[in-house]
Formats: sequence, structure tokens, C-alpha cells
Amino acid sequence: MGTVLRGALRRLRPPRRGGWPGPPGAAGLRPLGGGARGREENPSPSLGKDRADTVIIGGGCVGVSLAYHLSKAGMKNVVLLEKSELTAGSTWHAAGLTTYFHPGINLKKIHSYSIKLYENLEEETGQVVGFHQPGSIRIASTPTRVDEFKYQMTRAGWHPTEQYLITPEKVQELFPLLNMDTVLAGLYNPGDGHIDPYSLTMALAAGARKYGAQLSYPVQVTNLNSRSDGTWEVETPLGVIQAKRVVNTAGFWAHEIGKMVGLQHPLIPVHHQYVVTSSIPEVKALKRELPVIRDLEGSYYLRQERDGLLFGPYERQEKMKLQDSWVTNGVPPGFGKELFESDLDRIMEHIEAAMEMVPVLKQADIINTIAGPITYSPDILPMVGPHQGVRNYWVAIGFGYGIIHAGGIGKYLSDWILEGEPPFDLVELDPNRYGKWTTTEYTAAKARESYGFNNIVGYPKEERFAGRPTKRVSGLYDLLKSKCSMGFHAGWEQPHWFYKPGDETGYKPSFRRTNWFDPVGREYKQVMEKVGVIDLSPFGKFKVKGTDSVKLLDHLFANVVPKVGSTNISHMLTPRGKVYAELTVSQLYPGEFMLVTGSGSELHDLRWIEEEVVRGGYKANIENMTDEMGVLGVAGPYARHVLQKLTTEDLSDSSFKFLQSRHLKLSDIAVTAIRISYTGELGWELYHRKEDAVALYSAIMEAGQKEQIDNFGTYALNALRLEKGFRAWGAEMNCDTNPLEAGLEYFIKLNKPADFIGKQALKQIKEKGLKRRLACLTLKTDNVDPEGNESVWHNGKVIGNTTSGCFSYGAQQSLAFAYVPTELSKVGQNLEVELLGKNYSATIIQEPLVLTEPTRTRLQRKGRSPKA
Ligand SMILES: Cc1cc2nc3c(=O)[nH]c(=O)nc-3n(C[C@H](O)[C@H](O)[C@H](O)COP(=O)(O)OP(=O)(O)OC[C@H]3O[C@@H](n4cnc5c(N)ncnc54)[C@H](O)[C@@H]3O)c2cc1C
Repeated sequence: MGTVLRGALRRLRPPRRGGWPGPPGAAGLRPLGGGARGREENPSPSLGKDRADTVIIGGGCVGVSLAYHLSKAGMKNVVLLEKSELTAGSTWHAAGLTTYFHPGINLKKIHSYSIKLYENLEEETGQVVGFHQPGSIRIASTPTRVDEFKYQMTRAGWHPTEQYLITPEKVQELFPLLNMDTVLAGLYNPGDGHIDPYSLTMALAAGARKYGAQLSYPVQVTNLNSRSDGTWEVETPLGVIQAKRVVNTAGFWAHEIGKMVGLQHPLIPVHHQYVVTSSIPEVKALKRELPVIRDLEGSYYLRQERDGLLFGPYERQEKMKLQDSWVTNGVPPGFGKELFESDLDRIMEHIEAAMEMVPVLKQADIINTIAGPITYSPDILPMVGPHQGVRNYWVAIGFGYGIIHAGGIGKYLSDWILEGEPPFDLVELDPNRYGKWTTTEYTAAKARESYGFNNIVGYPKEERFAGRPTKRVSGLYDLLKSKCSMGFHAGWEQPHWFYKPGDETGYKPSFRRTNWFDPVGREYKQVMEKVGVIDLSPFGKFKVKGTDSVKLLDHLFANVVPKVGSTNISHMLTPRGKVYAELTVSQLYPGEFMLVTGSGSELHDLRWIEEEVVRGGYKANIENMTDEMGVLGVAGPYARHVLQKLTTEDLSDSSFKFLQSRHLKLSDIAVTAIRISYTGELGWELYHRKEDAVALYSAIMEAGQKEQIDNFGTYALNALRLEKGFRAWGAEMNCDTNPLEAGLEYFIKLNKPADFIGKQALKQIKEKGLKRRLACLTLKTDNVDPEGNESVWHNGKVIGNTTSGCFSYGAQQSLAFAYVPTELSKVGQNLEVELLGKNYSATIIQEPLVLTEPTRTRLQRKGRSPKA
């Protein structure tokens, strides 16, 4: 550490506690006009109304943005209750950084909306917001980081946001005070910058009031009582408000609001610090504001603050500090406008890195440090939307970057509340991605990891290991854990691929093909030529029964209700005709069904189904069987042969047909067997009691010795399903796609008598014709394969995006699904797919690349060639 800085540290002011220093941005470059920067006058506390459509709990930037958007969209009776003053949580002291960049595809839309809103808010509300947009540069100082930027470029190419991969020379031109010794490239987003969070919130509040929302403070919500009609009694010291819905936007108190309704939101406050320097002559001498930089290897952000600099580091997970006592004991009464004690020792290595990268810092005095709480969820993404299990209880909580998210999330949530379905797909923010398995210990371990990993390289197929395994493991976990590389899915551990002697084992992430590439090819061959076993226990499984069960499912699903003993692939659509979910539906007994969904969508789907039961007054009982039931998949040409050894039931093709379901005993273990396999090969899914998992697995492995039965994992499964043309929920289909463009017509029965959700909208979509279609592409690449979300090019323009991809071990080339304009979707069309900065020529093929087993068998029976 330089001596000047050491001196500077000695001159540090004591950290402020309990004061109201005004937002950091109030010391911004442009003088703030009007009343925006002063403290807002508290209106006299009053409830005003005793009824509301929506009660928003918490007046930080997120809650106020929601109030602004709901009232602007025309909702009457929007009431926001704030226990002390607006912004008096994390908002007032935030560094205010705003960026277009997010690695998540759909979150880019949120960022983009926020920035466009903030640009216009001053004009709309008359309140100054202190928005600076000097741009931002992410710095690459390693070759892997350059790969990451190329990976991010192809993911941004089909999004309207401007983003450029720039040379070191351009980096230096934009940020002349940088030490260029290690800089290899920059990822540049013009339009990025920072905003004064306090003024932003006040402007949103002014807008909300203008459009009719009532913002009441100080009014603390002390309890929430649900009424039998689904409405809420919101208790406050000033009385009770009856509300159709409540939205928890209580920041680091969100956990406490959750407890009022019996939920343990997996959130934990973490300490985050940033440092502000005195005026620096070299900064003062500049003619224009410096862009924000993010030195990813040094793990800090740095921006100009007046004529000085402000920089905020993210410590490593071992060093960072959690405020876990607030989860166990609650937030101390009165905390809000307070800060934590600053601790510069904790961030010293980052200070040194910053001085190395921006040498003028060595001459700077630190004049202020801010250390405040940020609420972290396990994966650092917020939780936004309606919550499963508690009617009309919505959340917008867990914001690690609430300033940039507030605008977009306010709009997104407002649209969802008003229109009954999310305006676009943002399933990664679904609060229902968590569940009972997300304990406080797990949340703490993950928050620590997420904070420390703020700036690590984001690889495709990323795995993070803190907090694993959770209690929610499959019955086979202990047996398999040392034999394979496990992937994490909604609390479960599921084999990705299995080791054999000579393999390089473990998790070795890369932007290119890596250690799993050959082993997955081996597993692919195993399933195609012999027989493989896969642990599918993470599937979500529900039992539906009751006098109205058939009526309910006929209304929920676009496919027909399967007959007793049969199974269907069925889709739940939104009223606008988008794909909300895909499930396997089996009628096991008359009126009794088993519904199966993917591992990540269990509570997401359950919420939708439960809501429909209540809305339609159906007499149906839904039981979530996910944790009690295990699932084994057995697939490959010898699958029948092996299973037949374990049962006296006839498993022949004529007796146990494709898409039939039946209760069997396999080696005396009761299973519900469905003849279905996502591999597209001959196969069964075997649903059993979790405690029977080892016995069942062992019996199958024993029975398959002669057929050389072996394990396979989800990576091979993915390659097998892509070759067969099977779409995946969350990739080819989601709330951004309709089933017709996704090529799912076969499963959509527009002619069935029931008026299923989305039917009318889909009819109109069909009538109008499709603008884009899902196409299957093959491409020859070198050591890299498509993952999904890459740009698809034609004639020098981005015309679409991939949705998923892999190496096809059958065709020995890469394979991808992509959405492309209808006029460019014909078989034989040549296109290009961008991968790691290079465009590879691609051709649309007739799908599927490989015919499924049932189709091959059918063709063979008819004496036709079973080759695709
Ligand atoms: C040092 C620091 C720097 C940061 N820098 C950035 C940045 O550069 N960019 C960025 O995007 N984000 C940044 N953040 C994160 C950002 O500040 C937060 O994500 C954001 O402010 C969260 O806003 P919120 O509205 O969810 O919560 P809060 O601002 O915490 O608001 C919650 C409100 O709920 C109220 N409340 C709680 N309980 C009740 C109750 N029972 N009844 C009524 N009201 C209640 C509270 O009083 C509070 O006002 C930073 C955070 C910190 C600490």
C-alpha cells in the first residue's frame, strides 16, 4: 500500500451513524436543482384509506417504482406504507450505478427499461434525478475474460442494447487514467452510468402521487391477516386496511414481513462498502466525465464522484461480512438510516488493486466510506412475483442491485398484476424457485459465495458448490456422488456425467469443450446402442384427484386429458397464448392423475394450478409428491429386455405401448411405470417411493449385467433430446413464445371442446400467421458448441437467436435450435451462428436429426426405412 494512501486512511472521517447525509449522488457532478436533494417533508401520518386494491409494504426505490407504475397504468387505490421515510432502507446510501449489462438474457430488458425510464423521469415529474451517463467499461485482463466478453457479445447481439468489445487503445482513449499494463480488452456499454438513488425515488414518488397513488409514512405494517375470500387485512398502528393483494417490498425487512404470512424468505443482509476520495487534480483536469469501470480481476467498480473517484469492492467469500443475526433476531428497531461501521482492512487488497489500475488513486485522500446492508438471495437474483402457497401475496425482494432493477421491475410487476400474466419471461426471478429446502444455513453459505463471486468469470453450464448438498437429495445420492459430476437443480443433486478410469474428473468449466466432452459421447453411445439408467428424481410430481379433476385439467392444458392408463405431454398456456409450463400428465385411476414437471418448475407450476383451482371453484385436491417420490429413467434398445427380467408383467410393445402408464412390481418394488423417455429411445420412467431408490436401482443394474447396462447423466440426455427434436421448457418454450412458433402443434388441441386457457389467443395467433419459427440447425465448429441465446446472422445482420444447442454425437457436428423469421425458416436455408466471436455457417435441417424409437419401430413395421 502506498504511503500517501496510508496517510489518507489515517485522515478518514469516522463512519457516519444515524445521520442523514443525503444520497452519495447528491455530491454528483451536476448541481442538483429543485427540491430533489433535500429531505422530503413527511406528510402527517395517516392511513387515508381503509380499502385498497394493492398495498405495497416498503418505500424504497422498488416499492415506490411499483406504486408509480401501477397508478400510472390506471390502478385505483394503490397504497404504499412506509414505516419511516421513503428510501430509509438500502436505497438512500446506494452508489447508484446503472448498467445495460446483465449476463441474464431477460434481465437485460429490465435494465434497459430502467435506464430509458430514468432518462425521462425528470421531464415527466419535474424532479431532478442526478442521472449521469458517461458509459461503462468492463475490463478484461486475462484471455479467459476475453472469451467471456466474446460469449457475452453473442448473447447481446440480438438485444437492442448497445454493447461493444473494444481494444485496449479504445479503453485508454475512454479512460485515460488507466494503467494499461494488463488490459487486454474492454466490454463497453454507452449509456451506462449512475443516478442519485434518493432523488430517483423521490421523482418516482412524485409521479406515483400525480397518478393517484397514496404514499403513507411513517406507517409500519405490523401484521397481515388473510381472509377467507383471499383478501388481506393489513394491520398498522393507525388501523387496518383491507387489500385485494399485498406486495412485500420491504428490503432487508422482507424476511420479517414473510414471517407474518408463515414464509421463510431465503434472504440475508450482507455488508457492502464503497469509498469516496477527495478531489484528484488529474480527474479535475478532464474535459468530460470518466466512464464507470469494473475491474473484474480486482473485483471492484469505480466511477467519478465530482472531481474525485468512488470505488466499491466485493470481497472474497472468506472475507465478506454477513449480517446473519438480522435473520435470526430480526433487524434492530430503529435501524434504517444507519450505516455499519466501515472496515477498510477487509477491502485493502481491492484498494491496492484499484491503485494499481488507476494510479492517481495513490495520491488521493479517502474522504468518506459508506458501509450499508444489501439483501442477498442465494443466487443474488431478486425474488419477484406471486408466491406459491399464500394467495394474493406478491414479493419484490432480495435486490442486490435494486437501483438499476427498480424501474424495470416496477413495470414488469405492474403489468403482471394488471394483466394476469408476466409481460415476458423472467422465470429466473420467480420467488418459487426456492422452497422448504432453502434453509437459513444454505442461504448464508450461498450469499457469502454469491457476494464473493460478484466478478468471477461466468461460464456456460456454471456450477457453484457452497451450501451443497442440501437436505433435498435423491435416494441415490450417496451411492452415486463419487462416481459422477453432479449438477444442482432446485436443491437436488443430479448426475451430469459419469467418470470412468482415465477420465479427467471434476468440474472444469470452459467456454469450449472440456473434460466432459468425451465421457458424454460415451454415455450417448451407451443409450443408443445398449441401455442406460438415469436418476430423474428432481422432477416435480403432483397428484391431482377429486370430482372435478378431469374438468380442471381439461381447462388447464392445451392437450386432451389422457385416458386411464395413458400419458400425454401437455402444456399450460397463459391467457395470451404463451407457454407457461410443460408437464407429463398420466391418468392412473379414473379421475386420479400424476403430473410431472421439470426440476426447476415445481412450485412455479403448482402455484398456477392451485390458483386455477380456487379461481374456478374446482373440487380437486392437489398433492405435491416431489420429495417423497424418486424417479429412475431406463432407456436404450435393451431397456425392455432388462426390465422384463424383474417382472412377470408383459412389457412387450403390444402389451405396454408407448405413452402408457401402469403400476408394476419390479423385483417386488412397487413402481408406477410410464413408457416414455426424453432420450427418444425405447425407455421407461419408473416412479417409486424415495426409500426404495437404492433397491430398485441395484436390482436394475444387477439385471442388466449381460446387456452391459451403465449410468448416464443429464448432459447426454440433452444431446439425445436435441437430436430427436424434443423442445425443452425454459429454452425453446417459455412465456416469450407461443406453442405454434415453437413447433408444438401436435400437443395443442384447438378443436377440443374445452375452452382451455390461452385457446382464444392462440386461435388469433394462428389466424394472423407466425412471424418467426423454431428451426433446427447443424453447424461445423471447432472445439465450441452452441449453448443457447447466441446470435443468428444472415446477410450481415442478426436475425434471431439460438435457444439451446450441443454437439451431436450422432452427426459429429454441432446442433442448435434457433428462432428465425418465418421467411428464413425453410429447410436448407443457410445462416450463421456466432460463437466466441466467430460466425460459423449453419444450415436448417429437416428435424429430427435422429428419429425416435417409436417412429423407427412404426416405420420398420410398415417396411419403410427407419433412418431419419
Ligand atoms: C453501499 C451500497 C451500495 C449500493 N450500490 C448500488 C448500486 O450502485 N446500484 C444498484 O443497483 N444497487 C446498489 N445497491 C443496492 C440497492 O441499494 C438496493 O438493492 C436497493 O436500494 C433495494 O431497494 P428496496 O426498495 O428493495 O429496499 P429498501 O431501500 O431497503 O427499502 C425497503 C423499505 O421498506 C420499509 N419497511 C420495512 N419494513 C416495513 C414495514 N413493516 N412497514 C412499512 N415499511 C417497511 C423500510 O423502512 C424501507 O424504507 C447498493 C447498496 C449498498 C448498501
